[in-house]
Amino acid sequence: MSFISLVTPPLEISGPVHWFAFQNNNLLVEVVDSKTVVPYVVDLEEVGFDPVRTQYLGLLNDTPCFSAELPLNAPWPEKANFSDLRRLHGVLDPDFLKAAVTAIQVVNWDQTFQYCGRCGTPTEVRGGERAKVCPACGLINFPRIAPAIMAAVIKEDQILLANGRDFPANFFSVLAGFAEPGETLEECISREVKEEVGIDVKNIRYFGSQPWPFPNSLMIAFTAEYQGGDITVDGEEIKTADWFPADKLPFRPDSRISISGQLIDWFEQEFK
Ligand SMILES: [Zn+2]
Repeated sequence: MSFISLVTPPLEISGPVHWFAFQNNNLLVEVVDSKTVVPYVVDLEEVGFDPVRTQYLGLLNDTPCFSAELPLNAPWPEKANFSDLRRLHGVLDPDFLKAAVTAIQVVNWDQTFQYCGRCGTPTEVRGGERAKVCPACGLINFPRIAPAIMAAVIKEDQILLANGRDFPANFFSVLAGFAEPGETLEECISREVKEEVGIDVKNIRYFGSQPWPFPNSLMIAFTAEYQGGDITVDGEEIKTADWFPADKLPFRPDSRISISGQLIDWFEQEFK
C-alpha cells in the first residue's frame, strides 16, 4: 500500500490523520522513537499550530492525509522542526515523502489561486476535482505543473555533462530545461542541447520522470545519441561542458534524490 491522491474526503473521519503542514515551503516534522515523521493527530492545534488553510490530499495506508499552510510569523512550539523536502530523502518514509511532494504543490496552488488571475474575483473550489473556478468569469485554475526535460546525451562510450551557472565548481549534471509553449518534449531536448552546448542529437528515448516541486516542475528524463557538432557553451546557463567516460565521472547529483543522478548511474552501469 502507498499514497493514493484523492480530492474528495471521506464523509466521516474518525481518529487522527496525517498532516503535511508547510511554513515557507518547509515541512513540519517531528522525531518519534528516533524516526522522522509528520504529525499524526486529529487537529494541528494539538501540536500548537493554527493553519491558514487546509486541503484533503488522499489516503496513505487507508489513513486520510491533509495538507496545511501555516502562518508565516506564528511562534513555533519548542519541539517543532521544519525541513526542506530535499533533505528528507532517505529520512522520511518514501510513501510519506510522495504525499509531501503532492502536499507542497497543493498548498502552493491553494495559496496562489485564492483570486482569479484574470478578473480578481475570489475563486471557489470546484467539487470533485483539484480546481478553483472564478464565479464571475468562469476561469478554472488547476494546479500548475511545468514540464522540464533532461537528457543524457551519449557519444560512443561517453556522456555529455555540464557545469551549470548555479552549480558549485566541479559539480556536473545532464542538460535540462523547461518546455516552451507549443513544443514537443523531443523538440525541447533538441533545442536545449543545441542552445546550451551547440550539439545536435538523435534517437531520443524516454527514461523516466520525477515530480520536482521546487516549485512545480515535472522532470521528464530522456537518453539521446550524439549526432553532430562540437561543444560550444553559451557561457550564461552553462559554464563548462565535456564528454566523460564511465570510469571518470565527476562529482554529480545524488541518485537517491534526483532522476538526473539516476540517469548518470544508468550510463555508468551500461558503459562501464
Ligand atoms: Zn475571473
